[in-house]
Amino acid sequence: MVIVKKSIIGYSVKNQPIEIFKISKDENSHNLQILFIAGVHGNESEGFLFLQRFLEEIKHHQIPIPDNVTLWICPKLNPDGCNELRRTNQNNVDLNRNLPTKDWSPTFVDPKYYPGPYAASEPESKATLVMIENIQPKFIISFHSYEFPMINYNGDCFDLAKEMSKYNFLEPKADIGYPTPGSLGTYCGLERNIPTITLEILRGQEPVHVWDQHSKAVIKALEFYL
Ligand SMILES: [Zn+2]
Repeated sequence: MVIVKKSIIGYSVKNQPIEIFKISKDENSHNLQILFIAGVHGNESEGFLFLQRFLEEIKHHQIPIPDNVTLWICPKLNPDGCNELRRTNQNNVDLNRNLPTKDWSPTFVDPKYYPGPYAASEPESKATLVMIENIQPKFIISFHSYEFPMINYNGDCFDLAKEMSKYNFLEPKADIGYPTPGSLGTYCGLERNIPTITLEILRGQEPVHVWDQHSKAVIKALEFYL
């Protein structure tokens, strides 16, 4: 029997709750902790629709949760952006450029990458930091979408990326092709030894096709480090 518990990790600029779901069979604190995040970029509905369905299928016992695993799902880290299908948060900040990485910089070339006035200036970023500190995940999968789909991996998880690629047929890449200071992959994967997969789903892909392409790869990831 799987146990699903909802809690709130913080509130958005517009004071909407940022929800997280804790999922396990036995709530054992020694379990392997895994964190899935989506909706960092609110216009990338491919990711949060996938993760919402993943959560529903777990609740309806369609997806097995392995023994000794606690899975945390945060489907909409940027609820204001998700509601309006906008990349940034309500302050027009790109939350994947706002985390306090060593290379954080206030400069930006395109407004869609506005990193904020200072690192971790946004309530959604502060909630992210507390969430990661509290969970201490073994690894993270962050669901995004991009016109060039790929399994972007940061930190020691090339093996996991290769395993996932057997099922979703996307190429593992260590580099997305441009610098991403203030990103989750840099903050966790490169600077904190928390391997981070940024799964870039094909932008505009129909939800049912997203599911068909990625569900097996994500299910396999749950048991990969057991
Ligand atoms: Zn994105």
